[in-house]
Amino acid sequence: MSTALIQPSSQSRQHWVIGNWKMNPNLANAKTLAQKLAKYFAETPLNTCKTAIAPTAIHLMTIHEVLTTTHTLSPISLVAQDIAPVRHTGAFTGDISADLIQEIGAKWIIIGHSERRTIHHEDEKLIGLKLNAALDAGLGVIWCVGETLSEREAGQALQVVSAQINAHTDILTTIDPDKLIIAYEPVWAIGTGRTASPEDAQQMHASIRQLLSTIRAPLIQTSLLYGGSVKSDNAHSLAECPDIDGALVGGASLDADSFLQIAKAFDIA
Ligand code: PEP
Repeated sequence: MSTALIQPSSQSRQHWVIGNWKMNPNLANAKTLAQKLAKYFAETPLNTCKTAIAPTAIHLMTIHEVLTTTHTLSPISLVAQDIAPVRHTGAFTGDISADLIQEIGAKWIIIGHSERRTIHHEDEKLIGLKLNAALDAGLGVIWCVGETLSEREAGQALQVVSAQINAHTDILTTIDPDKLIIAYEPVWAIGTGRTASPEDAQQMHASIRQLLSTIRAPLIQTSLLYGGSVKSDNAHSLAECPDIDGALVGGASLDADSFLQIAKAFDIA
């Protein structure tokens, strides 16, 4: 896929740095981390980059309270890590619906994360149901795509990522572009300390942007985040890439200072 024809302006695209806490901090540590971040961003607001954090489901209400009462001007958005494939309440033991997530103050949902695809065997059908449930409830989606190491080594990275996106063109043709963030997360780079080179990440992001624009022109402005072992010391080189609008950060988001440094790297005027 040629990327030469597309030269989008990054100025009107929203920058985001989003922390995916996964199943990590206990309640006390999650509260302390949220308090630190809320205080910092309230005292020293960023210029262009928005921030968000995704605690585990049972901490969402507590962290929402921290974010809205500790520092009322805190601009940190709340993200849920998963939802049920149906929007409304019902007989789904152990699940949490998009309506319930929305009710407690979360604005975004991570969908299609490789850990859910691998550990919970989530396929494109289930991912499509979750995307629709979230969007119907008025939530935004942080939709993760990415290839495995063997797929990259076989030269199939772009093919795999394109197929993951093309599986949901029905959703992309109607989605409110403001409710869409796509995170390119090469599976081999998640939690491994290996990160895609800025050149490889940029090339994939440019290709994703071109694909989105061919599905529907306004989607050229979609915020495209890179995820996979982003740290404070590699964030700047990724932020310099013209098609990388931010980062989805796992491990490094558990340390307030690292998360702040990464957010600052993407706080580009
Ligand atoms: C992630 O879980 O989305 C992620 C990118 O994790 P890490 O930053 O730890 O690689």
